[in-house]
Amino acid sequence: MDGKRHAASFQQLEKLGEGTYATVFKGRNRQTGELVALKEIHLDSEEGTPSTAIREISLMKELKHENIVALHDVIHTENKLMLVFEYMDGDLKKYMDTQGDRGALKPPVIKSFMYQLLKGIDFCHKNRVLHRDLKPQNLLINSKGQLKLGDFGLARAFGIPVNTFSNEVVTLWYRAPDVLLGSRTYNTSIDIWSAGCIMAEMFSGRPLFPGTTNEDQIIRIFRIMGTPSERTWPGLSQFPEYKDSWQTYATQPLSSILPQIDPVGIDLLQRLLQLRPELRLSAAEALAHPWFNDLVMAQTGPKQHPQHLQAQPMMHPHGGYQQTVPSQGNYGGY
Ligand code: ADP
Ligand code: MG
Repeated sequence: MDGKRHAASFQQLEKLGEGTYATVFKGRNRQTGELVALKEIHLDSEEGTPSTAIREISLMKELKHENIVALHDVIHTENKLMLVFEYMDGDLKKYMDTQGDRGALKPPVIKSFMYQLLKGIDFCHKNRVLHRDLKPQNLLINSKGQLKLGDFGLARAFGIPVNTFSNEVVTLWYRAPDVLLGSRTYNTSIDIWSAGCIMAEMFSGRPLFPGTTNEDQIIRIFRIMGTPSERTWPGLSQFPEYKDSWQTYATQPLSSILPQIDPVGIDLLQRLLQLRPELRLSAAEALAHPWFNDLVMAQTGPKQHPQHLQAQPMMHPHGGYQQTVPSQGNYGGY
C-alpha cells in the first residue's frame, strides 16, 4: 500500500461543488495532512467506467503546469471513480460573486487572471489538449492569486453532455460560433473564444452572451459582433446550422458595449472574439499582446506572498503602450 491510491486514505470534508459529471469534496490526506479536492464521478451503475475514460483521465496526470490544477491520483473502485486534485480556494464564478463589485473585478486582477488563463491554455495547446469547456466555474483560484484551469478531459472521456448531473442545462455562453454552427473540425481556437468571453465578464460582472438555446446563442453573438456573410466568412453557408434567414446585424464597437475596458484591452479582446476561428489569436500570440506589458501578478488573499507580488519580467517585442503600473493592493479577502 502506498497510502495514496485508496479512497480510505482521504478524510472526506465538506462539499465544494457540484458540476457536470461529479460532486467535489474537500479532503485531507490522512498521512500527510495535505488538503485535496476529491472529485467523485457519478458512474452509470450498469455500464461502469469505460476503459477509454480511464485512459483519457490518466493522461491528464501528465499535464503539469502552474496554471493547471494538478491531478494527483485516479482511484477506481467498483462503482466509483475518484480523482484527487490539488486543493484550490474556490472558482472564478464564486470569486466574482463574492469579491467583485456587482461581479466586476479590478483591472489589475483581471489582467493577472487573463495572463494566467492564457498561460494555462497555451500549455494545453502546446501539448495538443483542448479544454473545450472554459468558463468561470471551471477556473480555480487560490489565496495566492493563482488561477488554474480545472475540469477537463471529462468531456473527451465521457462526451459533451446536454444536461449536468444535477439536471441543469450545460451552459452555451462561452461556446465559439463555429461550434454553435455545427463545425466538427474545431481546434484550439475554441478555447480562445471562451477566454475572450471570460475577459469581458470579469470587466462587466455579467456574461457577454448569455444565450438560452443554440439558436439564441448564435443570435446574441451576431447582435454584437455583426452577422457574418459568405463575403466576411467564406464557407459560412456550408455549416450545418447556417440559416439564410438570419437578421443582418451591424458590428457594434466593443468599446461601447464594454466602456470599462481600456483601449489596449479592447484591442486584445477584439482579437480573441473573432467570429472566424482562423482569425483568432493563438494563446501564445495573446500572451505577447501589449496589454500585458504592465502586468502585475495581483494577489487575492489577505496574506502577503512577496514572490507572487513581483511583476513578471516581460520581454515583448512590442512596446510603446506605456500604461500606469497599477498599485499592488489587496484585492479582497479570499
Ligand atoms: P464538473 O465536471 O462536475 O463540472 P468541476 O471539476 O468543474 O466538476 O467541479 C465542480 C465545482 O467544484 C467547481 O466549479 C469548483 O467550485 C469546485 N472545485 C472543483 N475542483 C476544485 C479544487 N481542486 N479545489 C477547490 N474547489 C474545486
Ligand atoms: Mg465544472
